[in-house]
Amino acid sequence: METFINNYEAKRKTKRHTLWENVPDEQWEDWKWQLSNRINSVEEISKIINLTDSEINALQSDSLFRVDITPYFISLLDPDDPNCPLRKQVIPTEKEKEAFLGMQEDSLGEDAFSPVKGITHRYPDRVLMLVTTQCASYCRYCTRSRLVGDSSKNYSGSDLEKQIEYIRNNPKVRDVLLSGGDPLVLPVKRLKLILSKLREIPHLDIVRIGSRTPIFNPFVVTKELCDMLSEFHPLWVNIHVNHDKEITPELREACSNMLNVGIPLGNQAVLLKGINDTVNIQRKLCIDLVKMRVRPYYLYQCDLVKGAGHFRTSYTKGIEIIEGLRGHISGYAVPTFVVDAPYGGGKIPVAPNYIVSQTEGKVLLRNFEGFMTVYIDPIQNRDIHTEEVIDEDEDVSVLKLLQGRQKTIIPQNYRKSKE
Ligand code: SF4
Repeated sequence: METFINNYEAKRKTKRHTLWENVPDEQWEDWKWQLSNRINSVEEISKIINLTDSEINALQSDSLFRVDITPYFISLLDPDDPNCPLRKQVIPTEKEKEAFLGMQEDSLGEDAFSPVKGITHRYPDRVLMLVTTQCASYCRYCTRSRLVGDSSKNYSGSDLEKQIEYIRNNPKVRDVLLSGGDPLVLPVKRLKLILSKLREIPHLDIVRIGSRTPIFNPFVVTKELCDMLSEFHPLWVNIHVNHDKEITPELREACSNMLNVGIPLGNQAVLLKGINDTVNIQRKLCIDLVKMRVRPYYLYQCDLVKGAGHFRTSYTKGIEIIEGLRGHISGYAVPTFVVDAPYGGGKIPVAPNYIVSQTEGKVLLRNFEGFMTVYIDPIQNRDIHTEEVIDEDEDVSVLKLLQGRQKTIIPQNYRKSKE
């Protein structure tokens, strides 16, 4: 069955910047052309974006994380708004130079859990395998900015062999996450070679790929790539969309093409101050992801990585956002909010508290509307203190629910709002 979509209507294509209006479609939609024509200097970027002094100074600084932006992605930026949520993700400002409390180069402590160059073995049954240091464009908040973008730190064939050898020699590993950098910037043949060698390992159940390339350069999702990936099921891909403005017809098409060869897609977003740190932005993002069959998987608290201090929100902002998602939109669209713990603690889910109180045999729960109720567990012969009446005239209270003297606490107008 032919499932690959390669002729989306011209009118649905995202507008490109006038600088490239005469580039034939064939080139524009060639992912290699997009990579070869990335821009990074003040001179080039200022032809497209009205840069602020802070952006100019940062772009001229040698000490900051690499800049490179595909023509496709820079065409999505607002040239006149320094607060454009997409612009802030790829154009540096001087704020990247600011130190902050807790700042680290290796904010997840990955190096301490690295038995072989490029492998992080943090969890019992799965490993992270870094296959390249290169990306299609570079995110200003990148957790691995200590490695990413630096060609001299890239992984050689022999490094990859050693990584695969490590996995082969560890029978408990049943799940490998390919990351980097971005695995989807590798030539298809090289990625195929890696996947083939991994698939020869009998104890490996699944392979996952984490990639932001479809967002920066959706043309990478070619028929050749999809056909190749489909040989290695079960294979999962997590993309990385932070804002619904990144969801274009081209990205939708790229996702459709991966989904249509049986690759389940998830999304990992990073919570970024001034970019996507409101309930409304996250609701729209999550709903739009589900509309294109991408399951919102994780919402990450921004890491304590050098250069990203100005993107950090308080973790309570993440809890507030989940409070605004859970129950308000379908559960399928709600990601898990996680703090990737410093010093290698791994991902720790953090959520609003839905358990208001508990006593033996009873838990007092509240829903997203503030409706409170008691769930009674099935344990027999427990002491449930029903006789412990304190004051019948006492006002509504949580204690009354626990003691069985009241069944629910209902917010004012609750029933009315359901009518
Ligand atoms: S795509 Fe991923 S690895 Fe590459 S710069 Fe962005 S966050 Fe870092």
